[in-house]
Amino acid sequence: MAKIFCVANQKGGVGKTTTSVNLAAGLAKIGQRVLLVDLDPQGNATMGAGINKAELEATVYQVLLGLADVKSTRKHSETGKFDVLPANRELAGAEVEMVELEQREKRLKNALAEVEAEYDFMLIDCPPALSMLTLNGLCAAHGVIIPMQCEYYALEGLSDLVNTIKIVHAKLNPDLKIIGLLRVMFDPRVTLSQQVSAQLEQHFGDKVFKAIIPRNVRLAEAPSYGMPGVVFDPSSKGAQAYVAFGTEMVERIKSM
Ligand code: ATP
Ligand code: MG
Repeated sequence: MAKIFCVANQKGGVGKTTTSVNLAAGLAKIGQRVLLVDLDPQGNATMGAGINKAELEATVYQVLLGLADVKSTRKHSETGKFDVLPANRELAGAEVEMVELEQREKRLKNALAEVEAEYDFMLIDCPPALSMLTLNGLCAAHGVIIPMQCEYYALEGLSDLVNTIKIVHAKLNPDLKIIGLLRVMFDPRVTLSQQVSAQLEQHFGDKVFKAIIPRNVRLAEAPSYGMPGVVFDPSSKGAQAYVAFGTEMVERIKSM
């Protein structure tokens, strides 16, 4: 059965999609069967996996509304060697349309059950909001990966996210836990980054992943070629860090 993880942080532009796409490709590289779920109307994970979001007959939107199933909607990322349940701007409508539906926060969970046996991992790239879409991600997952930049305001938003996860754990999904905090876009020359990083370790102990993703321009360039960074330039520092992170994830969940 697949282990399902949400990559979530309600702050925008903190590296959720870069983490989802590169972790998916990093896990595929070490022989894992992966489904990447794009749960963001921006469709960045879809594009980053080399799938054109403008040319899709169906997306996760139809899946959430019960109009299509995962098997007929998923695509294969030729560059990343993993499957993708794609998204595009159509998904923005789902927030409102789901309000009417039964068990609206469990729509994704129920849809993914159909293919759970086909994968080792499912990774869900969440949008930058604590919305009904993110709630669907949290209800479907066994754990949350929280990418964060080591800057002052990062800690402020973190407590809202941690509270939301606690509430979902208590009321909707007892399986849910925080797998770890991932430091991304890290620049060791910045003193504040080092301070915030040390604070994170102090507060969250071994919930902070050992792998640290550096700020690396190759990771930012890769999406415009429709490739995960770990495939686009495997020798880059950013790619190597994501592969190390993938290996750490596999180790960490053995004890789950
Ligand atoms: P959103 O909240 O809009 O979904 P996000 O949290 O998914 O954003 P990304 O899209 O992954 O964040 O990253 C934001 C920007 O930072 C992108 O342009 C991405 O290419 C760049 N970026 C992410 N990680 C790195 C890194 N380690 N080094 C350099 N650039 C990075
Ligand atoms: Mg994103």
